[in-house]
Amino acid sequence: MNTVEVTDSYRHKGLRQQLIDSLKDKGITDELVLKAMNNIPRHYFLDLAFDKIAYEDRAFPIGEGQTISQPYTVAYQTQLLQINQFEKVLEIGTGSVYQATVLAELGAKVFTIERQKNLFDKNKKSYPFLSKYRNIKFFYGDGYLGLPQYAPFDKIIITAAAPFIPERLIEQLKPGGIFVLPLGDDENPNQQIMTRVKKELDGTLTIEEFENCSFVPMLSGRQK
Ligand code: SAH
Repeated sequence: MNTVEVTDSYRHKGLRQQLIDSLKDKGITDELVLKAMNNIPRHYFLDLAFDKIAYEDRAFPIGEGQTISQPYTVAYQTQLLQINQFEKVLEIGTGSVYQATVLAELGAKVFTIERQKNLFDKNKKSYPFLSKYRNIKFFYGDGYLGLPQYAPFDKIIITAAAPFIPERLIEQLKPGGIFVLPLGDDENPNQQIMTRVKKELDGTLTIEEFENCSFVPMLSGRQK
């Protein structure tokens, strides 16, 4: 997990276009999300060993027992967030930085938190291409606490399986804001329901449930 493939060849671009077409076939309709994902070389975020399969619609290991989400899931969750340019977005679970980059490519100001020190350190060091995305800020911490010093956020996204809707994060969401998270309980650890929480202008919450999905668990506390 230390070498980053920096060439975006015609082969990569061709495979990426095929992946984007397959996401459309699977029901992703937001053209801006599809375009953003087509602009980002997913293989940059993966170990070289995955270079040939980086454009399959699959999750892959990124070290420390964590995974980069399946492209369909990234597209689906991003589409539910309805990102507008310059919005402040809080992401819990930086992982490979792929999802954060999709949000940044859509023009959001991204604040992303990772609880695992090794993944956090790796993100800071090994991605020269991230210099293109000055609108991503990295934090090492516990996502359950959010980032009160930067609140309120227009949008919040959790990219790990949350056992409940964290109250602290609701507090950090702007009235009118949207929060998308995979919600699941311990009884069924491999399956969650993609959930969208809207904070109305009067502060009440509207909760919508979407497809089933499968994420690694959201854990509390930082890990050294
Ligand atoms: N968005 C990532 C997905 C990574 S998987 C990507 O595009 O690759 C989920 C990540 O959430 C893991 O890296 C895991 O360490 C992290 N995570 C889990 N619980 C967390 C918490 N409470 N705070 C911050 N990060 C957390």
